[in-house]
Amino acid sequence: MERIGFIGLGIMGKPMSLHLLSAGYPLCVLDVVQSAQDQVIAAGARAGASPQEVAAQSDVVITMLPDSPEVEQVVFGKAGVLTGLRAGSLLIDMSTILPSMARRVAQAARAQAADALDAPVSGGQVGAQNATLSIMVGGAPAAFARAQPIFEKMGKNIVHVGEAGAGQIAKMANQIIVGVTILGVSEALLLAAKAGADPAKVREAISGGFAQSRILELHGQRMLQRAFQPGFKVKLHRKDMAIALNTAKELGVALPASANVAELLNALIANGGAELDHSALVTMLEKLANFQIPTTSI
Ligand code: NAD
Repeated sequence: MERIGFIGLGIMGKPMSLHLLSAGYPLCVLDVVQSAQDQVIAAGARAGASPQEVAAQSDVVITMLPDSPEVEQVVFGKAGVLTGLRAGSLLIDMSTILPSMARRVAQAARAQAADALDAPVSGGQVGAQNATLSIMVGGAPAAFARAQPIFEKMGKNIVHVGEAGAGQIAKMANQIIVGVTILGVSEALLLAAKAGADPAKVREAISGGFAQSRILELHGQRMLQRAFQPGFKVKLHRKDMAIALNTAKELGVALPASANVAELLNALIANGGAELDHSALVTMLEKLANFQIPTTSI
């Protein structure tokens, strides 16, 4: 079996790496936060000393980091992945980052006779824990075929979208729909509650109809229970909206709904919500409405 290096063991990376371990892959892991590694090492992984060492010891290197600057540092930095990446290795970045950074990583890997894929995911913490992530992939078809058995240990809907950067483009589209839908669900439940209906009953009533969505189901529940521990952190979703809005600006595409979501995420961060789950967006609308949705147990 291919030896896998896994860098970034946060909310997503930890359960994803644990699935690879249980599938029998020899695993070398690294996170800047020591405690993030503990559980994976206890389960049988080896701790890498640096991205360089992880890459040197692995056939496949996976990164699951917060944002483009972290990927840049881990891949291109001093003792970074590229300084240890061997010819014939495969570098898979599963973080959500700028498509332009994904293309830069791919180019640098190619220059060392290695392959690279951008393979961001959707499905959240629950999808990572249940190995049911959607994985959207950019890169060469042969590299995709090589990675497929590894992806299958972490996800279900695995699609090769196109060349380098195409996975990140698909993820950008995903995040627009998720952000705008969270705003829609927030507006709907808030208005229903202030109008005098039981918002839990409203959610239940509309859940079987055309408004049904995973976000109404999972994030609607979070809003009603005020369960705002992440999940998917507000600061990460703001990062994703910025990726979409900056790309849209470059291409001359107007994204009015996404812009509203981004502004509300900005406001939420200014109000101390950076580390909350993105379903906490509803709390900004509550402030504007001077009304709080009553907490329900469902
Ligand atoms: P997280 O903040 O929980 O985890 C990131 C991990 O990377 C942390 O443990 C951090 O210590 C580590 N890290 C940071 N810099 C590092 C470095 N230089 N070297 C080694 N480790 C480093 O974030 P997450 O929620 O796991 O998200 C990871 C990526 O996946 C992000 O790009 C996010 O947008 C994306 N994503 C998250 C979700 C979700 O629901 N959480 C869903 C889909 C996609």
